[in-house]
Amino acid sequence: MDDTALLDLWEAGSNCQGLDRALLLLRGTGAARPDEDLSALPIGERDVRLLRERMRRFGTHCEATVDCPVCGERLAFPLDLDALSASLVPAARDVVVACSSGSYRLPNSQDIAAALGQPRPRLALALRCRLHGDTPIDEAALDELDTAMAATDPAALVDIALACQACGVAFTASFDIAGTFWSDVSRQARQVLDEVHLLASAYGWSEHEVLAVPQARRRHYLRRLAG
Ligand SMILES: [Zn+2]
Repeated sequence: MDDTALLDLWEAGSNCQGLDRALLLLRGTGAARPDEDLSALPIGERDVRLLRERMRRFGTHCEATVDCPVCGERLAFPLDLDALSASLVPAARDVVVACSSGSYRLPNSQDIAAALGQPRPRLALALRCRLHGDTPIDEAALDELDTAMAATDPAALVDIALACQACGVAFTASFDIAGTFWSDVSRQARQVLDEVHLLASAYGWSEHEVLAVPQARRRHYLRRLAG
């Protein structure tokens, strides 16, 4: 992905969020075939692919942040994405999850987007993914389904055990791979835009002309400008 493609991806991603942005990251970084229906991927497979693509582009180290749920302190913690990736094996796409309320397929991005628009998203998601069964789905059945789904496709929800350095409370936080990947893309895009600004201002080049300068030469010009 060259810098022009990076800026195009950043601009498109700035105009969407959540599920759409996760799929855009896979498509925009070239991690998916053009004809592939990414919205039909189970969430675990989608997120493992995002994780691998993030490592390929930005390396295996990640500084994640989370707010303590008790005192609100912003905590930063390092994550070894290589080790995390090795521990995550996405479930097969056609796996069936058996529960007392019926059998279910794994949810994908289409299912989640549709369920989020309903008054009771958890129930809507369960009904949408139920393959067999017609009994009512109560809260206990939803809890059972969540547990079974997490056991079947653990890559779909990655919980990290943490302890707050300020108040000492232990808690778990979900690792948001799409959000992390997007932060990396945004940071790099802003860096490129800053370079364009400096070089365009100094030499009178257009954005297109600056982006056409190979990175090694661009760095040299920037060092000259910095004195
Ligand atoms: Zn705390």
